[in-house]
Amino acid sequence: MAILKVARLGHPILRQVAKPVPPDEIRSPEVQRLIDDMIETMREYDGAGLAANQVHTARQIAVIEVLANPRYPDAPHIPLVVVINPVVTPLGEETEDGWEGCLSVPDMRGIVPRSRAVGLECYDRDGQKVSLIAKDFFARVIQHEHDHLNGIVYLDRMRDLSTLSHIAEWNKHWLGIREQAD
Ligand SMILES: [Zn+2]
Repeated sequence: MAILKVARLGHPILRQVAKPVPPDEIRSPEVQRLIDDMIETMREYDGAGLAANQVHTARQIAVIEVLANPRYPDAPHIPLVVVINPVVTPLGEETEDGWEGCLSVPDMRGIVPRSRAVGLECYDRDGQKVSLIAKDFFARVIQHEHDHLNGIVYLDRMRDLSTLSHIAEWNKHWLGIREQAD
């Protein structure tokens, strides 16, 4: 396994639409190694998720995991999920504002509206079809990673850039100010 270099905002790969992985390639050593490396990279940098674009590979693969995470100390735990070729469907009209950060936009936070619940259909790393409903923080992370795979970053989704904050200032001025801050 290897820790991969993370692309930062401005690298064109973050604006590319990732290509789907043919289902019969999911179990290939190349794809499995990429998934392992993405998991290791996400854990190394305390990400809640990581999309393949962020490690310079425009394929429809994302990994999500939230355990005890110093970047998101109050977030509910999410066991490791590997998401391949995701189709994400908002469930209902309800949106919720919440803080997001991104390993490709280092040391920044901003408030982003997201659907409170989404349906997710995808393949897992064994090539099995997965269908689930996610709510709240899990739904938020799915939408964030799904956006990456479509060349979108969370800044594009912010309604009001005045909440965009450096993490040091965020800790001083914003921490705990809004409910559902992640
Ligand atoms: Zn991100």
